[in-house]
Amino acid sequence: MTKMQFKAESKRLLEMMINSIYTHHEVFLRELISNASDAIDKIYYKALTDDSLNFDKDSYYIKVTPDKDSRTLTIMDTGIGMTKEELENNLGTIAKSGSLAFKSENEAKDGYEIIGQFGVGFYAAFMVADNVTVISKAVGSEEAYKWESEGADGYTIEPVEKDSVGTEIILKIKENTEDEKYDEYLDEYRLKLIIKKYSDFIRYPIKMDITSSRPKEGSDNEFEDYTEEQVINSMVPIWRKNKNELSQEDYENFYAEKRYGFDKPIKHIHTSVDGAVRYNAILFIPEKAPFDYYSKEFEKGLELYSSGVLIMEKCVDLLPDYFGFVKGLVDSEDLSLNISREMLQHDRQLKIIAKNINKKIKSELQSLLKNDREKYENFFESFGRQLKYGVYSDFGTNKDVLQDLLLFYSSKEKKLVTLDEYVSRMPEDQKYIYYASGDSIERIDKMPQTELVAEKGYEILYFTDEIDEFAIKMLMNYKEKEFKSVSSGDLGIEAEENQEDQVSEQPENKELFDYMKEILAGKVKDVRISKRLKSHPVCLSTDGEVTIEMEKILSMMPGNENVKADKVLEINVNHDVFKSLQDAFINDKDKVALYTNLLYNQALLIEGLPINDPVEFTNDICKMMV
Ligand code: ADP
Repeated sequence: MTKMQFKAESKRLLEMMINSIYTHHEVFLRELISNASDAIDKIYYKALTDDSLNFDKDSYYIKVTPDKDSRTLTIMDTGIGMTKEELENNLGTIAKSGSLAFKSENEAKDGYEIIGQFGVGFYAAFMVADNVTVISKAVGSEEAYKWESEGADGYTIEPVEKDSVGTEIILKIKENTEDEKYDEYLDEYRLKLIIKKYSDFIRYPIKMDITSSRPKEGSDNEFEDYTEEQVINSMVPIWRKNKNELSQEDYENFYAEKRYGFDKPIKHIHTSVDGAVRYNAILFIPEKAPFDYYSKEFEKGLELYSSGVLIMEKCVDLLPDYFGFVKGLVDSEDLSLNISREMLQHDRQLKIIAKNINKKIKSELQSLLKNDREKYENFFESFGRQLKYGVYSDFGTNKDVLQDLLLFYSSKEKKLVTLDEYVSRMPEDQKYIYYASGDSIERIDKMPQTELVAEKGYEILYFTDEIDEFAIKMLMNYKEKEFKSVSSGDLGIEAEENQEDQVSEQPENKELFDYMKEILAGKVKDVRISKRLKSHPVCLSTDGEVTIEMEKILSMMPGNENVKADKVLEINVNHDVFKSLQDAFINDKDKVALYTNLLYNQALLIEGLPINDPVEFTNDICKMMV
C-alpha cells in the first residue's frame, strides 16, 4: 500500500494547527463531537427527503470510549459516514470542509444547523494523539474504509469490515510529557467533565461507559466494580426551550448548575431574537456581589455559544463594565468564528448582540425599579456603586443610560429616592438639587452645613459612597437642575434678612474677621459670617469645584496628595461664641488666637478631617478649663 501525501499546503498547515490554533488541548474532543453531531444532522436531513432512510432518533448517538490498556480514545457516531472519496477529500485536505459545502448545497432548514465550516477541527486530534484512525461507512454504500495517519507525513486508506453506517475515530493518545499529562484524556471522569463543559447541549446523546463501585451482594464490606452506559450531556439547552415551559425554579437551578453564584438571582432575562442577528440569551441579575466584585481580580463576561457549542467562557465584549455584574450566556448561530472557534472573526454580529443586550438589561432594571422597589433596592445595595462608577467613567458617556437607575438616601423621605422623584417634588423657589457628603447617614444628619437648606424645607440627598460626588460632577445636572453641595460657598438661597451684612459692615467686626484670617493663614481661604448655620457655632464650607469630601478621597490616590479644597471658616454670629470672640478682640488678642484655633479644629473634626496638631488642640482645651 502506498502512502498518500497530504495535499498542497496541508503539511505546513497541520503543523501550525497543532501548535498554535488552539490554546487548550482539551478542545479536540469538542471538535470531534461537533463533527459527529454534524454527521448525524446530515443523515437526519437526508431522511427528511429520502423515504428509504428511516430516521429513528433513538438509534442516533455518539459514544466516547477510553481504553487505558491500549491508550486509545474512540469517538464513534451513527451519522452519515464517509465514502472513500470523502475520506480522501475531507480528511486529506486540510481546510476543506465537507460540512460547509453541504451547507451551501442544502440551504439550511429550520431546526437544522451544522456546526463545522472550517475543515480544521478534525486535525485538533493530533494535539493529543500521535496516530489517528478513522473507520467509516457511508450511508448507501456497501464498503467501509479505514483512513490512518500519524500526522504531517501523510495518510493511508484501505478497505475494512464495518457493519453499520457511521464513523469511528480512534486516537492513539500521546505519552505523557513533562508539561502535559495526556493520560487525562483516558480518564473517564476527566472526559466526562470536558464533554459537560463544551458539548452539554449537543442534540444527540453522548454516551460513555462509566465504571462505578457497589457493595457485593451478600457482603457488607466487599465492593465490586460494574459498568453502566450513561448519557453525559443534557442535550436540550434551557435557552432553546419555550419560556412558558420553564419555571422560576428551572432558572434558579440553571444558575446554580452553571455556578454563576451562590446566591439566588434577583431576576432572569430570557430572550430570543430573530432579527438581523439571531440569538438566544439567558441573563441573570445576581442578588449579591461576589466577594471580589469591586476588585481588579473580577472578570466580567457572558458565556458565548455558537449553535449550542461553547466558544468562550467569558466574552467580555458582550457586557459594558457598568453592567459587569450580569451573568449568563448568549447562543447564536450567526457568529463568524475563526478557525479555532475560540475567537470571533468579525465582531459586527457580536456588537449588535451586545447593543441589544445592553438595552434589554437597562429596561429590565427600569421595570424592576418601577414594579418591585424592594427588590430593586436589594439589587442597588449590591451593585449601585457599579452604576455610579458607570456614570463617572468614560467621561460620562453613559450617564444618560444610567442616571435614572440611581438611588440616593433622602433627608426628607428617610429612604432611597430616584433623581426623578427628587426633582418632581422640588418647590418652585428651589433652584438646585442639594446634597451633603459624609461617611454615614447618621453623620450627615448632624452636619451643621445642612441647617439652612433643611430649614427652608428642601430635601437633601445624602452621599455616603466615595464615588457619589464624582459621579454627580460628571452628571452636572438632572432635568436641567444643577447639583449643589450644602457645603458650597454659595447655596443659592436668598437670606431672609440681611443681618449678616449689617454685622460684617461694622468696622470692628471686619477687623476681627481679618485678624482671624491672619491667624489661619495657609489653612483657610477666608473667614466669613455664615448664612447657613442656625444652632452650631462654626463650620467649614468650600469655594470652587473641589469639596472637602473630594479632597479626602483624592488625597488617598497617588499623585493627588496636593489637591486641596478652598476652605472657608464660617462663624455663626448669632451664637454666644461670637460674642466671646468680640469681647476678646477688644480685651485680649491672645484669646482671639486661642478661640480661633479651637473653632477651626472643631470645624475640622465635624468634617471628619484630621487635626494638624492634636496635642496642641487638647492643650488649648485645658487652657479654657483652668
Ligand atoms: P469542519 O467540521 O470544520 O468542516 P473538520 O476538519 O472537522 O472540519 O472536518 C472535515 C470534514 O470531514 C467535515 O466537514 C465532514 O465533511 C467530514 N467529517 C469529519 N468528521 C466526520 C464524521 N464523524 N462523520 C462524517 N463526516 C465527518
